[in-house]
Amino acid sequence: AKKLRVDKVLSTIGCGSRADLKRYCKYKMISVNGEVVNNPGFQVDPEVDEIVFDGEKVTYREFIYIMLNKPDGYISATFDKHDPIVLDLIDPSYLIYEPFPVGRLDKDTEGLLILTNDGKLSHRVLSPKKHVPKTYYAKVDGIVNDDDIIAFEKGVTLDDGYETMPAQLKILKSDEISEIELTIHEGKYHQVKRMFESVGKRVVYLKRLSMGKLNLDESLELGEYRELTIEEIKLME
Ligand code: URA
Repeated sequence: AKKLRVDKVLSTIGCGSRADLKRYCKYKMISVNGEVVNNPGFQVDPEVDEIVFDGEKVTYREFIYIMLNKPDGYISATFDKHDPIVLDLIDPSYLIYEPFPVGRLDKDTEGLLILTNDGKLSHRVLSPKKHVPKTYYAKVDGIVNDDDIIAFEKGVTLDDGYETMPAQLKILKSDEISEIELTIHEGKYHQVKRMFESVGKRVVYLKRLSMGKLNLDESLELGEYRELTIEEIKLME
């Protein structure tokens, strides 16, 4: 069991500063398992003990997992000097958990982005050794054809000389602006865009549909998000 100071737990979830909580303690506003707490340093296991603050039962979670349908124009980072960041889209009450994006989507790429404070999960999903597949939908300027399917399956050479791993290309529409789905098993910088550049075509719209077994919830509008279900969290393990 994990023991934490009750004032730490309550300040983490936004009930006030440590100084505030010292006062609230004096006012007998905090109880644990039905007993009023007199000492703000009282040790609790927030996952087991019932903590009541100001008459309301408190839910404290160590980890949060959010699925965001990222819109165009937002940077996948926790800070940026110039541009809006994906955390700007999330209710401030989540920020106490200090979520960060699992990997990056380009500023103009849309779709599935996971935000979490679970560093281990993030590490696992992004580990180059794990080859977690990522599937993208793209609109491509140029007629995508079977030669591209074969080239991507064999691996192509990017502008910096990197040889890509086999990737699966599905053509949804072959036209002047083609529509495709592409599954890659690694995550180089601008990878999808650069793979198409290597065959002389240009991605004009890009959206991530899935990461591993986790699919974007298509009922989320651009800029909308929700927490992952327990089942979805398990899919990422
Ligand atoms: N590939 C890209 O080119 N951009 C992304 O945002 C993701 C994959």
